[in-house]
Amino acid sequence: MADTPRLEVDHITCRFDGREVVRDVSFAVRPGEILCLLGPSGCGKSTSLRVIAGIERQSSGLVRADGAPLSDARMHLPPEARGVGLIFQDFALFPHLTVGQNVAFGLRGPRAAMAARVAELLERVDLGGYADKSPHMLSGGEQQRVALARALAPRPRIMLMDEPFSGLDNRLRDGIRDETLQLLKDEGTAVVLVTHEPEEAMRMADQIALMRDGKIVQKGAPYNIYNAPCDKAAAAFFSDIN
Ligand code: ADP
Ligand code: MG
Repeated sequence: MADTPRLEVDHITCRFDGREVVRDVSFAVRPGEILCLLGPSGCGKSTSLRVIAGIERQSSGLVRADGAPLSDARMHLPPEARGVGLIFQDFALFPHLTVGQNVAFGLRGPRAAMAARVAELLERVDLGGYADKSPHMLSGGEQQRVALARALAPRPRIMLMDEPFSGLDNRLRDGIRDETLQLLKDEGTAVVLVTHEPEEAMRMADQIALMRDGKIVQKGAPYNIYNAPCDKAAAAFFSDIN
């Protein structure tokens, strides 16, 4: 059904050594929608993503995709069975494979279709013509864009992105970011984008979930949060945007 959220995070709590790092976090993301988890360093953004990805197991709460559980009190699907794409800060390419082979890594199907998909994605990240190069010939920013293309290639129904654009140089950053997120929207992917930068969230998000100390303190459309922050700390967090 069109109204079923692609991703539902329902009252997730995550404890390490008795300390609650993620506290009762809930949100839903629909196909083609971008939700930004926004908050200062250490507030629990990455841990929340790791729970959705299945890398970390929550202490309580559940995660659903298209209405079906990915993890709850009884079951826990492994990351590779979730249909979830991940782009984390520390990208790693396979050094023994070419750029094209890296992007094709998660793809199955006829060779011509795979080659077309790889070429399309390399164009999108501004690396047309790089398919036969080896990763070690590329700059850090270029490698990051290859990793971006690799994560997009299998068209995951959910994409989890942990500050994936922060390492790109300014000249390319806005273009790559806008293109990448537009591509994900066009493909109907539900996106959770982690950022500590209010400008990025304001620009890219359909919904912002503002986090502090493990909790979501406010959730809504960017301009609603910007115009009516829930408290002084939230207002201060947005005050640097001009
Ligand atoms: P953010 O991504 O918002 O910067 P994190 O989710 O990485 O925040 O971390 C939230 C808090 O949880 C931090 O205090 C961090 O030190 C702690 N933390 C994260 N992972 C672990 C872990 N595996 N064991 C213990 N503490 C952790
Ligand atoms: Mg983090």
